Amino acid sequence: MTTITWTTHSEEDTKQFAEKLGGLLQGGDVLTLEGDLGAGKTTFTKGLAKGLGVKRTVNSPTFTIIKEYMGRIPFYHMDVYRLEDSDEDLGFEEFFNGEGVTVVEWSQFIEDYLPEERLELTIEYVDDTSRKISITARSNHFEQVCKEMST
Ligand code: ADP
Ligand code: MG
Repeated sequence: MTTITWTTHSEEDTKQFAEKLGGLLQGGDVLTLEGDLGAGKTTFTKGLAKGLGVKRTVNSPTFTIIKEYMGRIPFYHMDVYRLEDSDEDLGFEEFFNGEGVTVVEWSQFIEDYLPEERLELTIEYVDDTSRKISITARSNHFEQVCKEMST
């Protein structure tokens, strides 16, 4: 199990990092995003979507929980913040096992539904303009992705 850590120094920096990662993903990939409010989860997701070829603007899906986009493959953006303290299943598996890439903001709130094979990301506030991003590979495919991210 590999964990890699980067520090980004601007919003743009985080987006570029995410865009590079987006370019390495394939259908069925699931990424979990943890980090406090304002850490940069949605910012990261916007960059990732760009790397997946999504042209539409990606906004936080807080009120819809799941939003779908189309890029070179489908992209499913979930923000499950509102599901804290509920164990409601909104049919997550259909997305996780689907053709697209899924990103889950606040994934700790649906821990029980997450697939074992996933890329776990944590974003931590360092200061006004800097964030520490850690990614942990939970499958062989993601080990490979981590390797490519560090070259
Ligand atoms: P979250 O979805 O985790 O609540 P957002 O992505 O909505 O967070 O907000 C992150 C905020 O932090 C934005 O206002 C963004 O401009 C700011 N920010 C400052 N520095 C960075 C950085 N290095 N990476 C990402 N966001 C940053
Ligand atoms: Mg957000």
